[in-house]
Amino acid sequence: MQSVNPHSGQVIRTYDPQDDAEVERLLGAAESAFHDWKKSSFADRAQLLKAAGGVLRGRKQQLAELMADEMGKVLRDGVAEIEKCAGCCDFYAENAQRFLANHMVLTDAEESYIAFDPLGPVLAVMPWNFPFWQVFRFAAPALMAGNIGVLKHASNVSGCALAIQDVFREAGFPEQTFTALLVESARVEQIIRHPAIQAVTLTGSAAAGRSVARAAGAELKKTVLELGGSDAYVVLDDARLDAAVDICVKSRLINAGQSCIAAKRFIVHKSLRAQFERAYVERFQKIRYGDPRDDSSDIGPLARTDLRDQVHRQVEESVRQGAKLLTGGQVPSGVGAYYPPTVLTNVQPGMVAFDEEVFGPVAAIIEANDEEHAIALANQSPFGLGAALFTQDKARADRIARRIEAGNVFVNAFVKSDARLPFGGVKQSGYGRELSWFGIQEFVNVKTVYHARVEGDAKSQVPGDRLE
Ligand code: NAP
Repeated sequence: MQSVNPHSGQVIRTYDPQDDAEVERLLGAAESAFHDWKKSSFADRAQLLKAAGGVLRGRKQQLAELMADEMGKVLRDGVAEIEKCAGCCDFYAENAQRFLANHMVLTDAEESYIAFDPLGPVLAVMPWNFPFWQVFRFAAPALMAGNIGVLKHASNVSGCALAIQDVFREAGFPEQTFTALLVESARVEQIIRHPAIQAVTLTGSAAAGRSVARAAGAELKKTVLELGGSDAYVVLDDARLDAAVDICVKSRLINAGQSCIAAKRFIVHKSLRAQFERAYVERFQKIRYGDPRDDSSDIGPLARTDLRDQVHRQVEESVRQGAKLLTGGQVPSGVGAYYPPTVLTNVQPGMVAFDEEVFGPVAAIIEANDEEHAIALANQSPFGLGAALFTQDKARADRIARRIEAGNVFVNAFVKSDARLPFGGVKQSGYGRELSWFGIQEFVNVKTVYHARVEGDAKSQVPGDRLE
């Protein structure tokens, strides 16, 4: 397993995958750690998680440099990612007890309530694109709920995986409450089968999601899947064009275009299409791509050359299918996994840039005849992660938002994750939710506790089946 700097092409470090005996030892230790951790108080867990936030803040520059080197994220974005992780630790430290408090329900019982118990070690299979954020948004709620975190990170960011494990240790978490396994994806199925693992969460591609869900299904273990997206940004005829272009450009270039919720398809009303296209291309041509450690770079390289080559193939295939290339579209000479900001127009259903997720700085512009057509185009995708609407009419936005097949709809803003709001998708973007109180309830035993009434007790006159 190698970490290769996508800017220089140099191997940073080679990691020997842990052998089966070591994985067995670590999973056994995770199982043992659960016995004490599940009995710890919310206050104790919260104190440790706050401390983890503090460690992150203290190391944000160093961790941002690690991300720049392992997967090409520009430094200021890396710093922002670490701060967001620390904020997520604070959020769950402050709110987990409230989210998981017993929920009293009025029934025919003397007392009945819903309790939320931890499950045990949860395996998290994570991607390289937000190497810290993806892990913390799983780990912060999971640990606060009393579960144990077992991470299998993407093979190209093993340095980040070990750094995350260090953050938890330095914060004072007992050793095996959070463990990073260094294993290849071919061994994930075997880990899922291990009796210590109680549930699995995966963030990554649909192919990986299918494979993990199949293995977990065979073991009847719960899964949460956060998969890819091809988010539609719908620019309606009453949109404020300048603001819409600004947001659409920024969203397409988040993390050099390698974000599940980056804008990917721009569905623009025909009355605005020419203006939108002109302004968009002008903005894209000013973007500076280069060394992620250089402050003047707007975006860095893609994370690996094979991923860059895949993006280029998708652009070339879309052009062959009839899309028009307005800017970019050439692989630059020299080292590094670079790809220029690229704009395709005349994109239509059936073309690769419409039907597939393009994981790089490539915008696909699609013309819509009217509102109905725009909604139909937005929904004509195998994915359903995020979407954005641009209109000055709030009632119109609310009406359309409910017809969009996606887990997140943002109006006059780009789609983003926020610890306070649930995050996830429908269709091939996966199932289950992360973040907010929905996220912390994914990996708990939702337990009904029912106390029978003492016979003759006057209160037993309360009618049954009332839920409060
Ligand atoms: P990926 O190739 O699916 O890898 C993700 C993780 O799954 C890695 O740890 C990988 O390990 C592992 N993996 C790959 N194939 C597997 C298999 N057959 N069985 C078990 N594990 C497997 O995805 P990626 O290229 O790293 O990330 C990009 C994808 O993630 C995009 O589709 C993106 O949209 C999606 N994503 C979704 C969200 C969301 O919240 N919905 C957020 C971020 C990214 P190895 O590295 O060892 O192969």
